[in-house]
Amino acid sequence: MVKKCPYCFEDLAEKPLKCPQCNQYLIDGILEVDYHGVEKKNCIFCGKKILVEAKICKYCHKWLDEIDRAADDLRHMEE
Ligand SMILES: [Zn+2]
Ligand SMILES: [Zn+2]
Repeated sequence: MVKKCPYCFEDLAEKPLKCPQCNQYLIDGILEVDYHGVEKKNCIFCGKKILVEAKICKYCHKWLDEIDRAADDLRHMEE
């Protein structure tokens, strides 16, 4: 099993309180999966390569679903 941060999906060596990559407190617990994430995507904010599953960019620490959430808010306002 591989331990992963639930936010940036980077592998974790042990069980830190805070992810050393994205700096988030791991209050929801860490993920245990049986694969190493290898596929990458470009961060929509800083353009650096991050794992496809990542919810937060480990470089600029922005939430990648922020834009989706903003779009949702807009849709709700139009209703
Ligand atoms: Zn992380
Ligand atoms: Zn970024």
